[in-house]
Amino acid sequence: MLIDAYNAVRARVDEACARAGRPPEAVKLLAVSKTKPAEDIAELCAAGVTAFAENKVGELCGKQDILTDEGLEWHLIGHLQSNKIKYLARRPVALIHSVDSLHLLDELQKAGEKFGRVWPILIEVNIGREESKTGCDPNDTRLLAEEALKRPNLALQGLMCVAPAVNDPEEARPFFAALRVLRDEIAQFAPDCRELSMGMSGDFEVAVEEGATLVRVGSLIFGARDYSKQA
Ligand SMILES: *Cc1c(COP(=O)(O)O)cnc(C)c1O
Repeated sequence: MLIDAYNAVRARVDEACARAGRPPEAVKLLAVSKTKPAEDIAELCAAGVTAFAENKVGELCGKQDILTDEGLEWHLIGHLQSNKIKYLARRPVALIHSVDSLHLLDELQKAGEKFGRVWPILIEVNIGREESKTGCDPNDTRLLAEEALKRPNLALQGLMCVAPAVNDPEEARPFFAALRVLRDEIAQFAPDCRELSMGMSGDFEVAVEEGATLVRVGSLIFGARDYSKQA
């Protein structure tokens, strides 16, 4: 049962909170359902899980069309191409985690005006400065945050990162700590910039110890992903 795997992850989040002297409510567990069928999500919903994350706009929309319960919370965590924003016009999106350029801020602002909505966003930071990763350079985070604040149809709520893949999750700790420092700096002029979306299946406990408020866990809940069936 998927709910057993989910509960096991939640218990580990709670233990990490306890080690860090944080209340368990301080961390939301997002079930990353990308590549998994809507039936898997429905199974978790039936057991009371409400917060899900997808990395592609098309897949998000497809699953929302099947799972219409208004109590569900949908997070977009993958790289957002500006030509896909229009498909989100009337979609419930709790948070866009992956805003990493001035161009995207502009396109979201334009779409927000057009559709009459304010987008809750996180700035994605390439905290390990890896060639292969999306996210802004850590040095550009402050500037992007300032620019986000100038745009009335954007609500900056925090920062997000995908830490470098490491063998020992302890090696990811400095990256999570660095994102937290950035968040604290930005919160001095952007008081709503509180969230830290960090930690995945391999490193979420360390992320929680370093202050994560949102952890994005996929394979530990749903099992390994099979990309061979995808177009
Ligand atoms: C896939 C994905 C996750 C979840 O990864 P797991 O290792 O399966 O937990 C988290 N964040 C992002 C941005 C992802 O694309």
